[in-house]
Amino acid sequence: MYFSNGVLFLSLGTDQILSKPLQSLKNVGSSRATLFQKLGVNTIEDVIRYFPRTYEDRSRLKKIVQLEDGESCAFEGMVAGPVHETRPRKGLVIYRMFIRDETGTIVATWFNQHYIKKVFKPGESYVFYGKITRKYRVFEVQNPVFERLDRGEFRNTCRIVPIYPSTAKLTQNVIRSVIESALRLVEGKLADPLPQWLRNKYKLSEINYSISNIHFPSSEEDYKNARYRLAFEELLILQLGLLSIKNAIGQSREGIAFQELREEMDAFISGLPFKLTSAQLRVFREIEADMESNRVMNRLVQGDVGSGKTIVAVLALYKAVKSGYQGALMVPTEILAEQHYSSIKGLLDAHGVKVGLLTGSIGRKEKNALLESLASGETDIVIGTHALIEEGVEFKKLGLVVTDEQHRFGVRQRSILSQKGDNPDVLVMTATPIPRTLALILYGDLDISIIDELPPGRKPVKTYAVDETMRPRINNFVRKMVKEGRQVYIVCPLIEESDAVEAKSAQETAEKVAAQFSDLSVGLIHGKMRPAEKEKVMKGFVEGKIDILVSTTVIEVGVNVPNATIMVIENAERFGLAQLHQLRGRVGRGEHQSYCILFNDGKTEISRERMKVLQNSNDGFEIAEKDLELRGPGEFFGTRQHGLPDLRIANLYRDMDILKLCQQAAAEILSVDRFLRREDHRFLRLEILKRFGDKLNGLGL
Ligand code: ADP
Ligand code: MG
Repeated sequence: MYFSNGVLFLSLGTDQILSKPLQSLKNVGSSRATLFQKLGVNTIEDVIRYFPRTYEDRSRLKKIVQLEDGESCAFEGMVAGPVHETRPRKGLVIYRMFIRDETGTIVATWFNQHYIKKVFKPGESYVFYGKITRKYRVFEVQNPVFERLDRGEFRNTCRIVPIYPSTAKLTQNVIRSVIESALRLVEGKLADPLPQWLRNKYKLSEINYSISNIHFPSSEEDYKNARYRLAFEELLILQLGLLSIKNAIGQSREGIAFQELREEMDAFISGLPFKLTSAQLRVFREIEADMESNRVMNRLVQGDVGSGKTIVAVLALYKAVKSGYQGALMVPTEILAEQHYSSIKGLLDAHGVKVGLLTGSIGRKEKNALLESLASGETDIVIGTHALIEEGVEFKKLGLVVTDEQHRFGVRQRSILSQKGDNPDVLVMTATPIPRTLALILYGDLDISIIDELPPGRKPVKTYAVDETMRPRINNFVRKMVKEGRQVYIVCPLIEESDAVEAKSAQETAEKVAAQFSDLSVGLIHGKMRPAEKEKVMKGFVEGKIDILVSTTVIEVGVNVPNATIMVIENAERFGLAQLHQLRGRVGRGEHQSYCILFNDGKTEISRERMKVLQNSNDGFEIAEKDLELRGPGEFFGTRQHGLPDLRIANLYRDMDILKLCQQAAAEILSVDRFLRREDHRFLRLEILKRFGDKLNGLGL
């Protein structure tokens, strides 16, 4: 980095503190450090930017008599007697204790918290906080947190208390105390990434105040100021990073100007087994214009499940090949790679285009032959998984790179593949529908085309949300459909803990299903299986040898088996709406009426609401908008999937107002200081580099 010396020294002062490992704090040993690591927290900087999920206002104390049934509240009281222990059944110990103030008495209850016995002595005074129940005149508080009144140090009561995202083994109390000591370490020393002029103009609080008040706000007002400023900072950095990428890609890169080839393309299009929809044609025209221009194409094609994105990609690949270049199509799963390979090969063989397949499970000999023919230019188009971006995969003349189901890849993987050519054109395809305003931000570095029409004759999938009482009827229905020759997907509950746990649960579901349908053939597919096994099962399903395919979400993307007409999703409440829609898109691909059955175990109003959205709509865009409303975009976007820095505090949907201001501010900043070289923009630049990391390599920043 390019600093004048004196300032470099100064900035390193805080930076050195910030980059220290968490263990340099007195209250963090190696086991705590490991637990924090699991939350992605490794350094002092990480921990002070580990923001609360929510807050509890424990600042107001009530008298016991004022406590109300159902509220969570703090109160002060004296231990009125010894702790009683009862053992109503094996494995359950209940500890009870009376607490008193001048207005009344309340019972505190703890379950299996054996240390409680030794904590309290009659006559001592504490502040308690917990959920109150009140039956007739009897007050009770279960598992309250407590702090000694005479110690005068309150971390968990008597203030607005932050609640952090956590794992089971890290208690809130530990997280709070670690954050407190980290804050003490950096107090008043943080350099503000936002320059003074910007803070003045947009009325943003200073960084030290903001960090301290986001964790332990002195008042609601302070919290609001802190949050506003930090969200602003986060969105500004996102915006600046994306604009820098876009500027660098947009202006500097001269690309390939592919030939027009009108006749060849028309002949190819009219030889297809179906007529393109007008949306497909329009989008292909947009792609064509990009390809023929001498600028590098960076285009995102967005289209609902089943809208026919693949063929649009094939047209572009064909055009590239006919212009004398090679093309690559990268997809997220082997199953999808194989399916694309066989359908695309079928379309292109007759035109003398040589198509190859590259996945992790291709045999060595075959692989070597393919690598050779890619390097020599004999193979025109290669379809594959991540295996394509490995070292050793070389092209003679790579002109077009397509990634399918973009939401499963990062910016980085896309760019590695591009680097195997000399500024090739880039096309990315996704079914994850995103409202346009947000797409512009998330895909700030791309131009966007939308296929907003389905091929004709598609019957909407009939969707039903049901509960367990419907199981026998659904099973009969499944059996009936299979007897008629159809096939069925059953998707297992989503388990995020780990692939291994998910695989085990899939195994169990499959066993259950196999027992229920002992007369039918049941297959299982999940992420932990070896590629060859997966392939075998998938092949069995495609060929109709398997009636019911039990699966995890590995079938979410792309898979095309038109004879499958029922999609049963277990524990549908655990999935995102967009994901359910994507899964549902696996059926309704052929001539037969298709069905999607959502087993909903969720009891809440929201979960019923969400199921209704799917029952009533087949439109991915509409569903995505509703999903955003109901869940908020944090989970929806999982920004990491897009290869962008995670948002820790801002919310792309709710903070739309801030976002608009940030877009304005970012444009303002770059217009006066394009590469952020100005003294007062130095920390801003540092922050962007930190958050975007090597994605900005070589882009001048
Ligand atoms: P997705 O957009 O989900 O990737 P696909 O490209 O897999 O959709 O297309 C879904 C199915 O629709 C495929 O079987 C494909 O052959 C078919 N298809 C695509 N375009 C058309 C069209 N214009 N008319 C009829 N069928 C089409
Ligand atoms: Mg597809």
